[in-house]
Amino acid sequence: MTNPGEGPPTSWLAASDPDPFPAPDALPPGADVVVVGGGLMGVSAAYWIARRGGSVLLLEARRLAWGASGRNAGIHLAGLQAMEDDTVLRKVIAEEGFDPGYRRTGHLALAASPEVWEQFRAEVARRPATASPLHALDRAACAGLLRMPVAGHFAGGRWMPDGHVVQPARLVHGLAAAARRHGARIGTRTRVLRVVAGHDAALRVRTTRGTVRAAQVVYACHAEVARFCPTLAGFIRPVRGQVLATAPLPPLFAPGMAVDFGSVYWRQAPDGSIVIGGCRAASTSDDVDERLDPPVQRALETFLPTAFPGFPRFEVRRRWAGVMDQTADGRPLIGAVPWAQRQWVIAGFGGHGLPPGIAAGAGLAEAMDTGRRSGPVPACDPARAVPGMEGQR
Ligand SMILES: Cc1cc2nc3c(=O)[nH]c(=O)nc-3n(C[C@H](O)[C@H](O)[C@H](O)COP(=O)(O)OP(=O)(O)OC[C@H]3O[C@@H](n4cnc5c(N)ncnc54)[C@H](O)[C@@H]3O)c2cc1C
Repeated sequence: MTNPGEGPPTSWLAASDPDPFPAPDALPPGADVVVVGGGLMGVSAAYWIARRGGSVLLLEARRLAWGASGRNAGIHLAGLQAMEDDTVLRKVIAEEGFDPGYRRTGHLALAASPEVWEQFRAEVARRPATASPLHALDRAACAGLLRMPVAGHFAGGRWMPDGHVVQPARLVHGLAAAARRHGARIGTRTRVLRVVAGHDAALRVRTTRGTVRAAQVVYACHAEVARFCPTLAGFIRPVRGQVLATAPLPPLFAPGMAVDFGSVYWRQAPDGSIVIGGCRAASTSDDVDERLDPPVQRALETFLPTAFPGFPRFEVRRRWAGVMDQTADGRPLIGAVPWAQRQWVIAGFGGHGLPPGIAAGAGLAEAMDTGRRSGPVPACDPARAVPGMEGQR
C-alpha cells in the first residue's frame, strides 16, 4: 500500500504522466495575467484567458492537480445551473483532442433514511420536463440496477441516467496542455508568496523563484485565497475529505454512486479499483490538512461490506486526503476581489467542482477581458462576502 509522501498522492496521479509540466529554469519577467494555483480552476482560467489572446503565466506551488483537483473521486454530477451544463466541456475536449475519461455511467444515490427517500421523491416530482431525467427507485429496483443485494437500511434511491465520471488528473493535464498550445506559460513548483502593488500600474507577484510583474492576478488557490484576499477570509474555509482506492475488483459498480447527498461517494475506475470517499461524520479531528484521518479511513473500509451483503473481500491499495474549500453560502467565488484593484478570484467550489469548472473559467476570462459579467459570474460575485457591498458593482 502506498502512503502519502511517497510520490503521486492518488491513483489518478499515479496513472498519469508523472511530470508533464516540469518546473521552469526561470520565470518570465512579466505577463498580462498571473494565475495563482494549478488545479482545475486555475488551469481553466488560464486556458480561457490564453484562448482570448491574453499573455498568461500560471504558477503552481507543487505540481498540476496535486490539490483537490487530483484528489477527488471524479464523479461528474451536473446540477440544473447553466454553468454545470457539460456542452462546453464536450466542445473543449473535441476541439483540443484529449481524452479525460469523461464517460456517461449514470449515477445512483441511495437514501439511508426515510427522510432522504422522501426528499429524493420530491426532487423527482418537481424535476422540470426540460431537465435530464431523474427517477426514484425503491430498494428492490436499486438492487436490480446494481445486480447485487442492497442492505435493508436503504429505503430507495435516486437514479440519474445522465451522470458522468471523469479521470480528474487527466482532465487538468489535458486542459493545461491545451492552454499551453494557446500560449499560456506554466510554472510548477513555484509558490506565490505575496502580491503587492507597484508604483506603476503593474502588480508585483513575489514567488519562490523571484518576482514577476502582472497587469492582473487571478487567485485560483482554493481555500488559500484567504491568505491573499483578506476581504474573503472568514467567508471561505477548508474542510478535509478522505478517500481510499481498493485493488482492482471484477466489475461491480457501473454507475457513479453516493449515499444521500454525498455523505459517502464512490465509483469503480476503469482498472477495476473502487475509489470511495466521505464518511466525514466518523472524524474525531478538526484538522484541515492533507493528512490521513484513521477513524474516517476505517469507516470507508467497512462501508461497502455493510451496505452490500456478500460484498467480496478487497485489499486497500492507496489512501489519501484532500481539502475542500467551502464558502459560507455554498456558492463559489468567481469575479473581482472586493476592495482590490486588478485582482480576481475563482474558488470555493467545495465538494462539487468538476461540473462547473470549465464554464466558470470561461466566465471569469470574459469578465476580465470585456468587463461583461455573464454566465455564472453575477450569481457568484465575491462582493457578497463583504457585508453591504453586494449589488454595488
Ligand atoms: C476528497 C475530495 C473529493 C472530491 N470529490 C469530488 C467529486 O467526486 N466530484 C466533484 O465534482 N468534485 C469533487 N471534489 C471537489 C473538487 O475536487 C474541487 O472543487 C476542485 O478540484 C477545486 O479545484 P481548484 O482548482 O479550486 O483547487 P485545487 O485543485 O486544490 O487547486 C489549487 C492549487 O493551488 C495551489 N496553491 C495553493 N497556494 C498556492 C500558492 N501560494 N502559490 C501557488 N500555488 C498555490 C495548490 O497547490 C493547488 O494545486 C472533491 C474534493 C475533495 C478534496
